[in-house]
Amino acid sequence: MRYEGTVYRPPSEAGSLIVQATIGCAHNRCRFCTMYKDKRFRIRDFEEVKRDFREARSRYGPAIEKVFLADGDALALPPERLEELLEYVAGLFPGLKSISAYGSPMDILRRSDGELRMLREAGLAMVYMGAESGDDRVLLKMDKGATAGEIAAAGLKLKEAGLKSSVTLISGLGGSERLREHALGSAKLISRMKPDYLGFLTLLLEDGAPVLEDMRRGEFTLLSPEETVEEMSLFLENVDSEGTVFRANHASNYLTLKGTLNADIPAMLRELEAIREAKAFRREGWRRL
Ligand code: SF4
Repeated sequence: MRYEGTVYRPPSEAGSLIVQATIGCAHNRCRFCTMYKDKRFRIRDFEEVKRDFREARSRYGPAIEKVFLADGDALALPPERLEELLEYVAGLFPGLKSISAYGSPMDILRRSDGELRMLREAGLAMVYMGAESGDDRVLLKMDKGATAGEIAAAGLKLKEAGLKSSVTLISGLGGSERLREHALGSAKLISRMKPDYLGFLTLLLEDGAPVLEDMRRGEFTLLSPEETVEEMSLFLENVDSEGTVFRANHASNYLTLKGTLNADIPAMLRELEAIREAKAFRREGWRRL
């Protein structure tokens, strides 16, 4: 099996067989992200991808239960090609319980309802979508390539097609300057699309991230750990997304928080307050992407 460059996956896909269906990210312009900056986006040769799956089958046997299609944006594949791949993978691993992939909001919107249903029927179970923020000014500043309205429409489209969605937001993406707008806009966005899962990451900038230039000019300020608590509390006080599984347990986070919206919101707010009072934050040096 061949892997090109660093391969990223959501934390919940730690036990999955990962194969790159695409290389890099089709958008690759977000100003906080350096994940795929060293890769030029391309759709991998189909025969090569199938060969990787056959090799995985002979190495690990037919009992694989979860597959994650990397890299940043497997939904950029033409839908018929992706359908063929999903069916091929399901044929190799009869005990397969789920196939999932990252999908950008604009790629999801480019697919028709019928195409998304077709992909679900072929075995695609879940799409991980980076929303990052619900505040249009933050999304524009970070060059996300989608507005909050488009992100909400993409989330609703997945739901309509019967696909599970796991959405990520990035704590601190508004900086201290737009902490409040980022928190409130994100709460509004999640309340609109009510994803199955919601993950909170915390902004962690690596060398080469264009937003570092904004910081040097004094136009963008990273949040302190205490401010991330303020931002997350504001988000939780304003979100309404019954049944969404909430996780802030990524290695980039200053703190760990888990629960199910809306039932666990009061308990999570109490937990946040306790963390803030005790200053029980992950040390800066222990945070990573
Ligand atoms: S955040 Fe996602 S969409 Fe943006 S450049 Fe990185 S991988 Fe691509």
